[in-house]
Amino acid sequence: MTIKKNYIAGEWVEGVSTTRNVNPADTSDIIAEYATADAEQTKAAVDAARAAYPAWSQVGIQQRSELLDRIGQAILDRKQELGELLAREEGKSLPEAIGEVGRAGQIFKYFSGEVLQMRGELQPSVRPGLDASVTREPLGVIGMITPWNFPIAIPAWKIAPALAYGNCVVFKPAELVPGSAHALAEIIVEAGVPSGVFNLVMGPGRVVGDVIVNNTQVDGISFTGSVATGRNIAAAAVGRMAKVQLEMGGKNPLVVLDDADLNTAVECAINGAFFSTGQRCTASSRLIVTEGIHDRFVEAMVDRLKTLKVGNPLDAATHIGPVVDERQLQQNLDYVEIAKEEGAKLIFGGEQLQLETEGFFQQPALFVDTTSDMRINREEVFGPVATVIKARDYEHALELANDTEFGLSAGIVTQSLKNATHFKRHSQAGMVMVNVPTAGVDYHVPFGGRKGSSYGAREQGSYAREFYTTVKTAYTLA
Ligand code: ADP
Repeated sequence: MTIKKNYIAGEWVEGVSTTRNVNPADTSDIIAEYATADAEQTKAAVDAARAAYPAWSQVGIQQRSELLDRIGQAILDRKQELGELLAREEGKSLPEAIGEVGRAGQIFKYFSGEVLQMRGELQPSVRPGLDASVTREPLGVIGMITPWNFPIAIPAWKIAPALAYGNCVVFKPAELVPGSAHALAEIIVEAGVPSGVFNLVMGPGRVVGDVIVNNTQVDGISFTGSVATGRNIAAAAVGRMAKVQLEMGGKNPLVVLDDADLNTAVECAINGAFFSTGQRCTASSRLIVTEGIHDRFVEAMVDRLKTLKVGNPLDAATHIGPVVDERQLQQNLDYVEIAKEEGAKLIFGGEQLQLETEGFFQQPALFVDTTSDMRINREEVFGPVATVIKARDYEHALELANDTEFGLSAGIVTQSLKNATHFKRHSQAGMVMVNVPTAGVDYHVPFGGRKGSSYGAREQGSYAREFYTTVKTAYTLA
């Protein structure tokens, strides 16, 4: 089997060992072997990015825009093939995987245009005879550490703005999904990125990630992953005064009010809680339902859950693919047990499934009779496990929705303009959804949360420039 290499200082280089990329729907299917970098190679990638930075930061926006456009187009042209690779290595259904690849392409296209929109400010100084101008410059070398759940879209929404605004990149994908990252790197290289401007270093967080976080030549770190790792990265980055941006977990609520359209409520809940196997930081794992609709909603959810097919992501009949790996599956199963022990009532699924192929399949789980203080309602599971919490009325539902240390996304299903408006204003989340699932966002508007979910500047859209650029104020004697 050929070994897929890292890309450092303009060369494809072998690692010190290799990592096997295994299909979670069929563990006999090995996608490829990927080179694992060590600390020294990661340092070489950082040095290459640093050396390339002076020239790249001065390259005109036309050239940068064209590079991003070529990358975006190449991704879109290979949507089907890259979608299949993504579904095979991560396990989301093929339509979701192709959709994610399309999103990655759109993001590069967006920043290809966005870089041409760069503008500064010129204003009179408070001191007569002077002008003051405010412009943006690239930050420098950016380290990117990404998770496995969106193997191409999350790297895209970090790499595209970084390159657009004139930064150099050291990119470390999650160990479980090197395939999409490697394919993206190939596209970026084929599109003509100058040597050293973009580097791919695959390998473990505690080795490769650690060098990126602690190397003083890295000016900024953009991280998406778990709360525990995010906290450590932030502490290390702040310790050496590097800029840092974190996107972490969620325990996102979907509020369903008595006046909701039942079908809309069920579809929002099914999509938000269980699509992509519940492995989205914006997944709605807490369904907060008012008393008047509670029983009808629960009954309709169970009926709808019975229609979902768990299976191989490449099979057209599959709605829900496998859990990403054995460790995550065990964590999901453990949480099902924890919830039962806490007194939550399991009314659907939750069990591991044995299908034709050896994989990490789990029937989606729905709990009722849960309360906000249970661990199942406080800790992120990151799997196809959702709970129903009964609320007395809208005010109680809002209070429950905000009763969490997280604050990424929050949804409400209602026909009341008054309650929807109130919820938009008072929900303590970075993103609020009215009559749409908590997961599923646009790429041209900011993405990010509050409280324990996010830290630092927002990602995506024009707001991405907050992280990827630094502001300069200049005074000129006129
Ligand atoms: P998950 O549970 O989704 O794997 P992690 O936070 O463990 O979440 O992983 C997200 C990313 O952070 C991965 O690319 C992983 O390799 C990386 N990572 C893990 N530990 C560290 C660390 N100590 N330093 C830097 N990066 C790390």
